[in-house]
Amino acid sequence: MAAQTMEQLVSLSKRRGFIFPGSAIYGGLQGTYDYGPLGVELKNNLKLAWWRANVWEREDMEGIDASILMNKLTWRYSGHEETFVDPMVDCKGCKMRWRADQIAGKCPSCGSAELTEPRPFNLMFKTQVGPVPDPESFSYLRPETAQGIFLNFKHVLDSTSRKLPFGIAQMGKSFRNEITPRNFIFRVREFEQMEIEFFVKPGEDEAWHQKWVEDRINWWLSVGLSKDNLVPYHQKANELAHYAKATVDLLYRFPHGLEELEGIANRTDYDLGSHSKDQGSLGLKARVAPNSHSTEKLTYFDAETKQHVVPFVIEPSAGVDRGVLAVLSEAYAEEQVKPAPADRLKPVEEALGTFLKSVSRNEKLTADAKNALLAEGERISGALGERLASITGLLSMPGAESIEVAKKLRGQVDPVVDEFYRTVLHFKPRLAPIKVAVLPLKKNHAGIVDVAKGIRRRLQSSGSMRVVYDDTGAIGKLYRRQDEIGTPFCVTVDFDTLGDGKDASTKDTVTVRHRDSMAQERVAISELEGYLREKMG
Ligand code: ATP
Repeated sequence: MAAQTMEQLVSLSKRRGFIFPGSAIYGGLQGTYDYGPLGVELKNNLKLAWWRANVWEREDMEGIDASILMNKLTWRYSGHEETFVDPMVDCKGCKMRWRADQIAGKCPSCGSAELTEPRPFNLMFKTQVGPVPDPESFSYLRPETAQGIFLNFKHVLDSTSRKLPFGIAQMGKSFRNEITPRNFIFRVREFEQMEIEFFVKPGEDEAWHQKWVEDRINWWLSVGLSKDNLVPYHQKANELAHYAKATVDLLYRFPHGLEELEGIANRTDYDLGSHSKDQGSLGLKARVAPNSHSTEKLTYFDAETKQHVVPFVIEPSAGVDRGVLAVLSEAYAEEQVKPAPADRLKPVEEALGTFLKSVSRNEKLTADAKNALLAEGERISGALGERLASITGLLSMPGAESIEVAKKLRGQVDPVVDEFYRTVLHFKPRLAPIKVAVLPLKKNHAGIVDVAKGIRRRLQSSGSMRVVYDDTGAIGKLYRRQDEIGTPFCVTVDFDTLGDGKDASTKDTVTVRHRDSMAQERVAISELEGYLREKMG
């Protein structure tokens, strides 16, 4: 099972500290999100998995970390100043601004078809560089990380003596002044990318392109996405960017639809050719604008043929935030632990009905909040037995707390959810923000607490996993809370650990509880670290 609606993910993310709306206490800033304590761990783990697979584990890759601010000529010769534009229309009725290709001739906000003619809108953020606001001292926040790689091509080549084929990988922030940021962290104005520019001999480009498409699909599968939800799409000739010979988009089935997660393009010699001096002498295949500023020929000397060539470039370019969203969505499940009897469901059903009636009568809610609450409420009541756990999310949606009967609904639903349901994130252990939670069976028992805290310290100092200690509830509740944030293992210290139980053989052992199967095993403390490391994969 994966998430059925974006609301489930937005609500869990806020409730448990994965992702928060940006600048919320000042009314927010559209298109920005902040990663919370668990979100930053998840994001870092995803980036580390990418870096490991693409830089450490390959023999043909180097990494770099270039500046976000670059000389503005970069964006002239990359083509962004001229072509990084979306056609945009304004609604004459409500004055909202939209991307013309996304709205089918009608304003999504007020429904009016009275729109201005489409006009180009440059997506780059312009920013002043230096203290003097003279019209020439500006640059742009980079809209992609790739250009930092092209501009450093010679530096990397000269400092590492690489032979073709080889690649340069980079992760980092990019900025696009998107006209209509939406769908949570799917389309935002500040985001991160993980990009590779892989340089190959002309003629070998098509085979490498195909190979990269396979490699990238396999990598996304390795971080937990399922084959059914990951669809390669070969762009048609009329969809290709002007520089691309072929592009394969990897589409993912997000809760809002099948959309791009990564693009893998064969960019020919366009990029290095565009940023080179003496272009006339290079025998370029791509059509590039004349460059009168570059001080460098971005070529590679082929020792076999004794010729300078401009390498072709294969570019796998993925969004980190879209990756986080895909991984979260895929991992999300609401599960019934055991069936709830009808007499326990009935009062919840009634309280939900009263809540939804009250929402539809409420005059203070915005239309958006009301519609979202009603849609989610109807989805839940459509199959209450299966979806009852979603009511927790429903109650944390915007506007829900202002409904008077919300408290009553919460009072009805919480005990039933606690007893019969769980929300769980089935992350691959490698990606889980917290790897192990150490739980004392009794938080006031000095012996148990000492042993538990000792285990937490030792596991943490092994350096390979984030480990937390949690004593803020009864053990069943603590398991559910760790399930909800995707912690693969809980370690419980109890009286048997101390040797106070009936069975003396359990002394110095703990219970390890597995997130996915909920199975429990007894493991000796002395073997715990090795045991967890092995299961972690
Ligand atoms: P789209 O068509 O969805 O706007 P794009 O084709 O312009 O995307 P690219 O320029 O190919 O995107 O950028 C590479 C990757 O960067 C995308 O596959 C996506 O994962 C990510 N990305 C691009 N724009 C955004 C954004 N506004 N918010 C989050 N991620 C983005």
